[in-house]
Amino acid sequence: MSLRSICVFCGASPGANPLYRQAADELGQELARRGLRLIYGGGAVGLMGIVADAALRAGGEVIGIIPQSLERAEIGHRGLTCLEVVDGMHARKARMAELADGFIALPGGLGTLEELFEVWTWGQLGYHAKPLGLLQVNGFFSKLEGFLDHLVAERFVRPQHRDMLQIASSPTDLLDAMAEWRPTTAPKWVDRSPS
Ligand code: AMP
Repeated sequence: MSLRSICVFCGASPGANPLYRQAADELGQELARRGLRLIYGGGAVGLMGIVADAALRAGGEVIGIIPQSLERAEIGHRGLTCLEVVDGMHARKARMAELADGFIALPGGLGTLEELFEVWTWGQLGYHAKPLGLLQVNGFFSKLEGFLDHLVAERFVRPQHRDMLQIASSPTDLLDAMAEWRPTTAPKWVDRSPS
């Protein structure tokens, strides 16, 4: 499947290290440079605002999807190609997943992790066959990578499902890896036996 739209999950805060902001800016620019439409949560705050602004400045198309309840808190971005206001969080995530051909997580907090893991579990169950990527910035995700290896070692996650997540430290490498990725057909269950 050729990639046309990429959904980015990232912090509604900028984080402590300026490198996170720099990475969000670089990713936004690279998406626009490749003609990839950015789909994201629609906020103007934190890394969300930075990735959107960078893509727009570089001439890219940006679609934001924001729940009514969050529009004020995350300050719905007014300069987007399109800002869709939806009923709630479930509608937001479903709409972002529908519009995107692939998903990238940047540094972020609980919302970012929840969004990444949800879309990953959907891929694991075969609900979609879209690539997933993690932009590793200054080792931000290293402990998570270690824990993912632990899940595989403890036989709760298949290596093929762990490997659905492409990890790279530059937007260029990450987008290249995602473009080359092919879905696995492995079933979700490990050591499945009737109880
Ligand atoms: P965070 O990574 O916590 O800064 O949040 C990043 C984005 O995830 C923001 O747009 C939040 O509104 C959103 N978010 C926060 N909590 C959740 C949740 N439970 N499910 C999905 N998205 C969330």
